[in-house]
Amino acid sequence: MEEKAKKIAEEVIRRKTRPIDGLEEMQNILRQTKYSERYIQFLNLEEDLNFLKYSSIAIGADFLESNTIDELITKEFECFLAFEKIVYEEGFEGKVFCAHCQNVGQTNTRKKLKFQLPPIQKVEVCSTCRSEKIHDLSTKQGQKKLAKSLKYSR
Ligand SMILES: [Zn+2]
Repeated sequence: MEEKAKKIAEEVIRRKTRPIDGLEEMQNILRQTKYSERYIQFLNLEEDLNFLKYSSIAIGADFLESNTIDELITKEFECFLAFEKIVYEEGFEGKVFCAHCQNVGQTNTRKKLKFQLPPIQKVEVCSTCRSEKIHDLSTKQGQKKLAKSLKYSR
């Protein structure tokens, strides 16, 4: 299933498949994987697009042109492929992204004094800079943060 999803993504990016058809195929994969977290962004995208479509009809605007939709879908596929590579192929699964030093790596635990009970608590921190601003890459939020930082560093 992973290979099939990646193939669809590559074909959309290389313009061999229409983005809207690629999105349709991802809906099938979603159903077959019982809405796996790995592909859930495509369900959200479908919902967002429908919402945009109906709300622009409702206000009588047609600012949602088909090339805008194509672009949105293609971007989501690009993002998807990048994460398949980062998270699953390059062994980043289970690692964290540090928003402070922008590194991807392991965590350490650090003892921290808090004004609550118990006063000394263990917190997970970045093993490089010991910041607490870390994001788990298994979540979409963590992946988005990583994507953002990669975008800025390019
Ligand atoms: Zn760090």
